Amino acid sequence: MRPAILNDLFSPVTALPGIGPKVEKLFRRLVDRADGARLVDIVLHLPSGAIDRRTRPKLRDVIAGQVVTIAVTVDHHRPPPKGRARAPYIIHASDETGDIVITYFSARPEQLEKLYPPGARRYVSGTAKHYDGVLQMVHPDKVVDELGLADLPLVEPTYPLTEGLYANQVRKAVQSALARLRPLPEWQDPAWIARRGFPSFAQALERLHRPRDLADVAPDSPAWQRLAYDELLAWQLALVLVRARLRRQRGRSTVGSGELRKDILARLAFELTPSQRHAYIEIVDDLARPMRMLRLLQGDVGSGKTIVALLASAVTIEAGRQAVIMAPTEILARQHLATVAPLAAATGMRVALLSGRERGRERALVLQALAAGEVDLLVGTHALFQDEVHYHDLALAVVDEQHRFGVHQRLALATKGEAVDILVMTATPIPRTLVLSCFGDMDVSELREKPAGRQPVDTRALPAERLDEVVAAIGRALDERRQVYWVCPLIEESALSDLAAAQERHAALRERFGDRVGLVHGRMRGADKDRAMRGFASGETPILVATTVIEVGVDVAQASVMVIEHAERFGLAQLHQLRGRIGRGSDRAICLLLYRAPLGEAAKARLAILRETQDGFRIAEEDLRLRGEGDVLGVRQSGMPGLRIARLHMHAQLLTAARDDAALILARDPQLSSPRGEALRTLLYLFEKDAATKLFQAG
Ligand code: ADP
Ligand code: MG
Repeated sequence: MRPAILNDLFSPVTALPGIGPKVEKLFRRLVDRADGARLVDIVLHLPSGAIDRRTRPKLRDVIAGQVVTIAVTVDHHRPPPKGRARAPYIIHASDETGDIVITYFSARPEQLEKLYPPGARRYVSGTAKHYDGVLQMVHPDKVVDELGLADLPLVEPTYPLTEGLYANQVRKAVQSALARLRPLPEWQDPAWIARRGFPSFAQALERLHRPRDLADVAPDSPAWQRLAYDELLAWQLALVLVRARLRRQRGRSTVGSGELRKDILARLAFELTPSQRHAYIEIVDDLARPMRMLRLLQGDVGSGKTIVALLASAVTIEAGRQAVIMAPTEILARQHLATVAPLAAATGMRVALLSGRERGRERALVLQALAAGEVDLLVGTHALFQDEVHYHDLALAVVDEQHRFGVHQRLALATKGEAVDILVMTATPIPRTLVLSCFGDMDVSELREKPAGRQPVDTRALPAERLDEVVAAIGRALDERRQVYWVCPLIEESALSDLAAAQERHAALRERFGDRVGLVHGRMRGADKDRAMRGFASGETPILVATTVIEVGVDVAQASVMVIEHAERFGLAQLHQLRGRIGRGSDRAICLLLYRAPLGEAAKARLAILRETQDGFRIAEEDLRLRGEGDVLGVRQSGMPGLRIARLHMHAQLLTAARDDAALILARDPQLSSPRGEALRTLLYLFEKDAATKLFQAG
């Protein structure tokens, strides 16, 4: 139930004067609410800037191009000559220091006559310029008389607009929506508010929509920060409430004998890194507890997440239950299987593969074995959770490279068994601020260090004109028995032409290097893809021309050279991912970023950062900084709720505070029943996190 105090704010914008159904559609688009714009959407539509009209020079002192408000006396009108309606309508005006010409194109004369009565004093605001030595203002923004001057917003907010909607319509709507705002109870901790010098919610809106200074509308102003904090707290509070609720959902305790794990560890050619061991212990712990696990295992490319997933699966298998490892691509699923298969054969683990490609009898057999409990570990793509897949006793789902999966799929998988524990793995380093906010409902394990013996990748950027040199260098690399990835970009809007580019490159390289060149791309048939990957892994085709299908998780240790064409088209995180495919073996690895000049500033910065560092976290932070919080790794897909006010790159500290605050609130007042708790419910509704409050009603 929405608190009654919010009813006004949640009424449709059509309740405002001058907004009919047609304009309402535009407002929907403006505030991105397909099912209707409401007053709350309007008041939270914050300015993108402001126009300062406070400069009030005499005409003599007007600076061309600057927004000014001038006080003038109207002298006379010069309407367009008869029959030349297209000619401008001109009004002459003056003050004691000079003259100005005010010009209108295709204006209605009656209107101008009313607006500028000869002899009257008018305050005119707009941008003036000199034209033929005469001071001129074309279409002033504002014209008022003495009375109107008092109401003239001297600092006028400007708003993000949408096509078809005028600045004035938005401004008016905001102002009348604001007028209907009723005082709301304070939901923030008064001490915190005082310490930060934050205004109240209503004062903050007032200050942003009726600024007194340009600084008032900046995202670092106290008013903006206050609202950002409200938004962040609502979000974080909803997360902790949901989480507390999920926590209470019982899971099953899964404890294994340790035998299988011992066997696996003994057969590995390496020792676990300290982070791997730590993550593994955390997971074993989670599994043992009679609550559901929801854990994010985050580790840069090559940090060795797969083995951790395998060990987690082993716990489940020891307990006589089933586990799945779900990969985003066919290639990766097969690779996981290839990694696991020898260990499985040696230790007696029963593994199977299920992807979109298994059909007919083969598929039927897998499904049958799975349902009968004759498969311990199933590796595959999203085919793993199709309707007709039934498990005997699924207890653990590992989701690799989570950002490719939607929340839906995650949930679908969880319904395949009884309180399935979930381990999500991501290689795309997500900045801490984002992990907290997107995955606030998850525990996080981090693989911080890379396995020993990894080589730094020598990264260089070259203009595409130097392709010949690159090809020559590839020739030398082949002589040294190195293997080479050659990456061609895949751009969504023209997948086909990019595919053509990859095919073309493949053909060109073949002319030079013969059948040592393989090709893999997303549109290939599965079997052909496998063949191409196998050819590369075995060293038969030591050059692999690929579209970005290799981006995620492929592990060919001997590959030590990578060429990325059109590197300027890739995002920073993606480049980092790609580069992570090399430098896994003992050879010194080289990554050549070919770009097409001239480079834009952002692209230049991306390539520079990549040359400078290989630290995935640092790269992720830079990425966030360069792009804004927008869509690092397609965060939107992964379920990050849209933020209207907070800017994660600017308000990261507020986010941290909101998180702590939310935890504290939960600890002190888990039912939100204190007076502040009541006010916080209003906050949750205001930012539409009311799903979280429904949990109370459910008990
Ligand atoms: P990612 O985290 O990118 O998924 P993988 O799990 O594919 O990384 O591991 C990358 C490579 O590192 C694999 O060949 C794997 O066998 C190897 N590896 C994993 N852990 C270690 C370790 N502790 N020491 C040495 N090599 C390791
Ligand atoms: Mg991996």
